[in-house]
Amino acid sequence: MQKIGFIGLGIMGKSMAANLMKAGYELTVYNRTASKGDELVAKGAKRALTPKEAAEGNDVIITIVSDTPDVERVIFGENGALEGCKKGAVIVDMSTISASATRSMAARLEEAGVEMIDAPVSGGDTGAREGTLTIMCGGKEEVFESIKPVLFGMGKKVTLMGGHGAGQATKMCNQTAIASCLLGVCECMMLASKEGLDCEKVVEVLSGGAAQSAQMTAYGKRMVNRDYAAGFFIDLFQKDIRLVMEAVREHNLCFQGLSTVQQMFNAVQGMEGGGQLGSQGLALALEMMCGTKMEK
Ligand code: NAP
Repeated sequence: MQKIGFIGLGIMGKSMAANLMKAGYELTVYNRTASKGDELVAKGAKRALTPKEAAEGNDVIITIVSDTPDVERVIFGENGALEGCKKGAVIVDMSTISASATRSMAARLEEAGVEMIDAPVSGGDTGAREGTLTIMCGGKEEVFESIKPVLFGMGKKVTLMGGHGAGQATKMCNQTAIASCLLGVCECMMLASKEGLDCEKVVEVLSGGAAQSAQMTAYGKRMVNRDYAAGFFIDLFQKDIRLVMEAVREHNLCFQGLSTVQQMFNAVQGMEGGGQLGSQGLALALEMMCGTKMEK
C-alpha cells in the first residue's frame, strides 16, 4: 500500500487521516499546532515536525489546510513538502483554494518531478468523520487512477472532473449552490418559528419532500436550537465565496444569491467571534435583518 504523509489536522483533516489509518495506510502526520496530532500518534501515526518531514519517503502527500497562501506555504515554503518529496510522489491538495493558483502550483511541481491532484471535498465534518465525502478532482488521469484507492479511504463519490484546477472549479459550483440553499433554510426556519410550528418537526417533514437538502438536514434544527458550534467556520465559507466572486467578475456574471449571503456573513463576522461560528450562524444575520429571533 502507498505510504502517506498527511498535512493539516483541522476539523476535516483529523477525521480524514483517521479513516486512512483505519483503511490500513501507514501515515506520517504534520500539523502546525502539533497537539492536534496527539490522538493520531497515539493510534500509531508517525509524527512529523515539518511538512518536509511529512513528505519524506512517502508516495502520496495530502494537504488540507485553510486557504491558497497556506497551501503554498506548506508545499513551497521553508521546510515545505516539496523539499522532502521523492521524484514521482503525488501531492493531493484537498483544501478549497483558487483554481488558477492550483494550476500554477501543479506546473511548478511538475518541473520538480512531483505530480499534483486537486481534490477538494464536500460533505462537511460529518462526511469527513464517516468517510462519505464527495471528492472532486483535477489533474492527469493516470495520476488520478494511481491514487484513487487512497481517496476512497476518505470518500464515497470520487470523480475526475478534468485537468489541474477542475476539482477546485467544481468545488466553487458546490459552494455557490450551498450558499443560497443555506439562506433558504434560514428563511424557512424563521417562517416556521413565526407560524408557531414545531420547528424540529418541520425539518423532519420537509426532509422527506422536495425541500430536502444537506443544509436542511445538517443545520435546520441547529438554527432554532441556537447551536452555532462550527462544523464549517464562517471565516472559511467567506474564503470560498471570495473565490467564487473572483470567477463571477472574470466571467461578467451577476450572482445575487451569493452576494446576499456574503454580506450577511460580513455582518456575522462583525460580531465578537462571529467568524468562528459554524455556517448555520447565517441565521443570526437574518434575525438582525428581520428584527426578530427564531423560537423553537
Ligand atoms: P480548520 O479546522 O480551521 O483547519 C485548518 C487546518 O489548516 C489546521 O490544521 C491549521 O493548522 C492548518 N493551517 C492553516 N494555515 C496554515 C499554515 N499557514 N501553515 C500550516 N498549517 C496551516 O479547517 P477545516 O474545516 O478542517 O478546513 C480545511 C479545508 O477544508 C479548508 O480549505 C476548508 O474550506 C475545506 N473544507 C472544509 C469543510 C468543513 O465542513 N469544515 C468542508 C469542505 C471543505 P492549526 O491547527 O495550527 O491552526
